[in-house]
Amino acid sequence: DAKAAGRACWSFFAPSMQEDLLLRDRLSRELRQAILENQLSIVYQPQSCRDGATVVGVEALARWDHPELGSISPARFIPLAEETGLINALGLWILRRACKDACGWENLIVSVNVSPTQFKAPGFVCDVMKVLAETGLPPARLELEVTESVLLSNEATTLAAMHRLQGEGIKIALDDFGAGYSSLSYLRRFSFNSLKIDRDFLSAVTDSTEAQAVLKTIISLGKALGMDVVGEGVEDADQLAFLARNGCDRMQGYFISQPLPLDALNEFLADRDMERVCRQAAHALPA
Ligand code: C2E
Ligand code: MG
Ligand code: MG
Ligand code: MG
Repeated sequence: DAKAAGRACWSFFAPSMQEDLLLRDRLSRELRQAILENQLSIVYQPQSCRDGATVVGVEALARWDHPELGSISPARFIPLAEETGLINALGLWILRRACKDACGWENLIVSVNVSPTQFKAPGFVCDVMKVLAETGLPPARLELEVTESVLLSNEATTLAAMHRLQGEGIKIALDDFGAGYSSLSYLRRFSFNSLKIDRDFLSAVTDSTEAQAVLKTIISLGKALGMDVVGEGVEDADQLAFLARNGCDRMQGYFISQPLPLDALNEFLADRDMERVCRQAAHALPA
C-alpha cells in the first residue's frame, strides 16, 4: 500500500542522506588537520588569449588530496571551511602559495578565488598587501575572483575593500557571471576589472541561437563597461571560435587545458614557448 511504499521510499533515501551528513561532519572535523598535514594543494588552469594558444594567465584552484577519500572538490570543502571559521587561514595559505608560484612565471596574471567571508574580513586588504610584499609579486599580476554572493550584503564594506585593492593596482573579477541571480545593477555599482562568464552559457552556445545572442550581448556589455571578458568552460573549438569572434579577451576551459599541478603547468608553458619559437623561426627562414 501507499504507506508501505512511502516507508520503502524513505528507507531507500535515508541512508544516503545520513551518509552525506556523516561525511560532511567527518570532512569538517578533518579539514583543520588536513591543512596542517599539507593535504591541500593548488592546481593552475591556464587562460589563453583569443588564439587559444598564448597563455596570459592562470586560475588557482584548491584541491584536497584526502588520504582515504581521494581528491575532494573545493565546491565541497570551501563551504565547510566557511562554516568552521577556517576559511580566512585557508584562503591566506592559498593566496600566499599562488603568489609565490606566480613569481616563477613571466608576466602571467594569477587569479585567486576569494570567498565572501574572507573578502569582508577586516584584515583582508592588509593581508593581501603583506603577501605581495613578502613574495614580491607585482600587484598588477594579481587578480582576485569574487562571486556575486559577496555583493549581496554589507555593500559599503565590499566597495571599500574593492577600492583599496584596486587603488593598489590589484584586479578584481566577477566570477560565474550569469549563474544565480546576477543583476545588471551590480555591474553599474561595482567597477570590476574583469567579467567571467559562467560556463552554463557556453555549454548551450553551439545548439542554441538564443544562447548565442545572450552570450554576444554579455560580451559587448562587459567590453562597453571597460572590462576584460573571460569565457569559462571552453570545451571545444567551436566555443573558442565563437568567443574569439565576438570579442572575448581570455579563454579558459578543458579545450585549452585542464587545471595542472605546478610542475605540469611549467612543462605546459615551456612547450608553448618552444612552439612559438619554432613558429617564429619558420617564418624567419627564407622559403
Ligand atoms: P570557479 O572559480 O568558477 O572555477 C572554475 C571551475 O570549473 C573549476 O572547478 C574548474 O576545474 C572547472 N572547469 C574548468 N574548465 C572547465 C571545463 O572546460 N568544463 C567544465 N565542466 N568545468 C571546467 P573546481 O576546481 O572544482 O572549483 C569549483 C569552485 O570552487 C570554483 O569555481 C570556485 O568557486 C571554488 N574554489 C576553487 N578554489 C578555491 C579557492 O582557493 N578559494 C575559494 N574561496 N574558492 C575556490
Ligand atoms: Mg573562479
Ligand atoms: Mg567561475
Ligand atoms: Mg563556477
